[in-house]
Amino acid sequence: MRTVPFSIPMPMRFRGIERREGVLLEGSAGWAEFSPFLDYDTAECLPWLRAALDSASRPWPEPRREQVPVNCTVPAVDPDVARDIVERSGCRTAKVKVAEPGQDLTHDLARVAAVREAIGPDGHVRVDANGGWTLEEAERAVTALDAAVGLEYVEQPCAAVEDLAALRRRVAVKVAADESIRRADDPYRVRDLEAADIAVLKVQPLGGVHACLRIAEQIELPVVVSSAVETSIGLAAGLALAAALPDLPHACGLATTSLLDADVVARPLVPVGGLLPAGRLAIDPDALAGVAPPPATVERWHHRLAEVTAMLEQEETRDARR
Ligand SMILES: [Mg+2]
Repeated sequence: MRTVPFSIPMPMRFRGIERREGVLLEGSAGWAEFSPFLDYDTAECLPWLRAALDSASRPWPEPRREQVPVNCTVPAVDPDVARDIVERSGCRTAKVKVAEPGQDLTHDLARVAAVREAIGPDGHVRVDANGGWTLEEAERAVTALDAAVGLEYVEQPCAAVEDLAALRRRVAVKVAADESIRRADDPYRVRDLEAADIAVLKVQPLGGVHACLRIAEQIELPVVVSSAVETSIGLAAGLALAAALPDLPHACGLATTSLLDADVVARPLVPVGGLLPAGRLAIDPDALAGVAPPPATVERWHHRLAEVTAMLEQEETRDARR
């Protein structure tokens, strides 16, 4: 299998990083992306590699739609910047970061008000707290934000799944679970505790398009497919999942190419009219040459890929013996 490391600068710091790195894999079914974050250990990278091998070697499931509605993402920025991001995106749904460390509810209220003004009364405004609130803080904030602008839903308001379940019983706003599914030992606790109204699924950390389709069936919740800030090759796998879902009532979080300064395809996945097309993409040799990392980084990624591959093979051997 052909493997090509890449390293792409980011226009603004996101998740504490300034470059997005990974490896592109070309298999019999097409190109795939393996880009676990650098702070992940080998074990945490396993589902990311399963996802890449799945996309590289198996055809994606039959699509039920050609285009996928997507949201724009508004980081914890000032209201003017927030307004600008929404207006330039053309998206009908905006996801707004709230509960940012060092900020308070006043900042969140100002930001969502600017977003509501920019998107208009018919647009959807959702917020993502990344587990940053306690249960009491979440109740107060969600109630205030909803009263001010009307929320589509609140994503991961608290870190603990038990708190999501409790909050759902205290507020009228729908609750979406993200980290409680993607970084949990058991993604189905969300369902068993009736802790969420919506499941956010990400292809790489959850083991691939086919694995996510199975989770979607079993979790018994509407699904929002979201990215892990991938290149267009990785985003295409998210779009394949979104296109294959029986129902897609909410816009997906796959319009994230704006978080990267470059891409690896000739025409990066930038939404038009709030929509992204589903389908396989080919890498562009010139684009790839532009994001080629220095030799030490290439070496590091080949080493990482070899380590994760070895652990995956060990695990498969063990599973086969059972
Ligand atoms: Mg999230």
